[in-house]
Amino acid sequence: MARTPALPQTLTLTVNGQDMHVLLSEHARARRISLRVDPIRGCVVLVKPRRTSKAAAVAFANEKAYWISDRLSELMPPVPFSDGTSVPILGNMHTIRHRPDARRGVWRELETLNVSGSVNHLSRRVHDWFKQEARKVISPIAHTYAQTLDRTVTSISLRDTRSRWGSCTVDGKLSFSWRLIMTPESVLNYVVAHEVSHLCELNHSARFWKTVDSLVTDRRMPTAWLKEHGGQLHRYGLAPWSSQA
Ligand SMILES: [Zn+2]
Repeated sequence: MARTPALPQTLTLTVNGQDMHVLLSEHARARRISLRVDPIRGCVVLVKPRRTSKAAAVAFANEKAYWISDRLSELMPPVPFSDGTSVPILGNMHTIRHRPDARRGVWRELETLNVSGSVNHLSRRVHDWFKQEARKVISPIAHTYAQTLDRTVTSISLRDTRSRWGSCTVDGKLSFSWRLIMTPESVLNYVVAHEVSHLCELNHSARFWKTVDSLVTDRRMPTAWLKEHGGQLHRYGLAPWSSQA
């Protein structure tokens, strides 16, 4: 019989009289004890090498208790796609409304995103809609920018990447996070301009930035916006923390 891996244990630390929970995870390849934030599960994970004792790991976490407390307070709860929740579309908040009796799929009406069909499919339908909408909006912009630069976009794919908003290959394949459709238009335009500019310069040289500037008038605001708000976009459509732990 195969051995089942040990479930992660939860440690409880106390800071200023308040209990905090940290997930203890053992990694065979870890070289030292470390702490990391898991924004998807909404917790702080204490990673320890297999040979390190639990007591040493707990002592380490206790030393960093204030850091853990700060990180936990910064974590934003997930916003599942469900009836009544607010989601941004091109920077404007829209309320999801379940229309069980309608037969229209997903449609946008003023500040409402209507979703028909069974409630069990609502989250998936909203996900699919966001992805389709992202393609619908991004594609023409990417092709127009490419035309301006006398380059060709060979394909556009939409993904759910956490570490980057877009990427580009030498042969003209562009990839974007579908969550860009949640950002204000100027932010979306900038990210598309950035990736399309890589069709001319596969680097971040002065020439590259000059190319970006020829496509969009301002890149400081979008860059600052992404830095400040970009990470929060990842909480939309996630299941509540309690169902993932
Ligand atoms: Zn770049």
